[in-house]
Amino acid sequence: MERVISGIRPTGNLHLGNYFGAVKSFVQMQHEYDSMFFIADWHSLTTHPTPEDIRRSARTILSEYLACGIDPEKAPIYIQSDVKEVLELYLYLNMNAYLGELERVTSFKDKVRAQPENVNAGLLTYPCLMAADILMHKADKVPVGKDQEQNMEMARLFARRFNRIYNVEYFKEPESYHFNKHAVKVPGLNGTGKMGKSEGNAVYLCDDEATIKKKVMRAVTDAGPERLNQEKPEPIANLFTLLELVSTQETYDFFNEAYNNMTIRYGDLKKQLAADINAFCAPIREKILEYQANPKLLDEIAAAGAAKASARAAQTIKEVREIIGFRV
Ligand code: AMP
Repeated sequence: MERVISGIRPTGNLHLGNYFGAVKSFVQMQHEYDSMFFIADWHSLTTHPTPEDIRRSARTILSEYLACGIDPEKAPIYIQSDVKEVLELYLYLNMNAYLGELERVTSFKDKVRAQPENVNAGLLTYPCLMAADILMHKADKVPVGKDQEQNMEMARLFARRFNRIYNVEYFKEPESYHFNKHAVKVPGLNGTGKMGKSEGNAVYLCDDEATIKKKVMRAVTDAGPERLNQEKPEPIANLFTLLELVSTQETYDFFNEAYNNMTIRYGDLKKQLAADINAFCAPIREKILEYQANPKLLDEIAAAGAAKASARAAQTIKEVREIIGFRV
């Protein structure tokens, strides 16, 4: 079975966009691949989080991914900083990574522009740490969004370069797996664009019923259709996209017909959408709360994941040390 490794950026709670755009595919992948997931907390140090931030986001991510259906028996989930072997490989990769090529990485250049006061060495060598995470597991495929493609090219470059320097066929070049190529773009509730944390237009999987209702009832609409069967403008099309994701076909058809024959009442549509989003989120939300109330279980799951990842990582480090010429 092909190996898949995927890092999760600890960037806060999951929203419906994350679920339908990424997490749903991860849950599917665990049945098709030998998959592992890790919470990239070392990567997150580039923004200098507090110890409390680090602990809280690990708990949040673990509980939310598990609640969405990641089965740690099938796809172990670990915390990056628990698998210390990665740091050793990171060091070796750093020795063969050149300043010029690291400075040319688009995400590094973006960060330099966005936070000129904090251009630290960790940001520069981010692709080396990412390559270490991937190569450590000899992964065949890595699920990535478009923004990670250049880092994947660097991982392949570092693998080839290591093999060439030591005249071995050791690391395989990991393929990118564009899981979201066919995923829907989940729209936000503010009329235009996609749902996102920074856009402030998101419904989170952990939102309670009242919060969901409040957010949906405030969604942007218009004065209503002016002609029979007219094309829906973006704010309305967005609400229908959400209906398509969480409601039944009958519900979708009912409101679609009402729009087409100009009898639609947006208040009714929103009430139904809020109820259906809530029905979709409720079981996930309950599981999130269950996991969060059980930190001991979360610890056990993370520890079991780390043990499995460390076993693989230790083997890789042993072989790499031998190749480099170190004692093992
Ligand atoms: P982010 O936390 O914004 O980096 O999102 C993590 C992943 O979730 C992205 O790589 C996307 O695959 C997915 N995602 C985020 N927002 C949306 C959205 N509105 N629609 C579809 N997918 C999304």
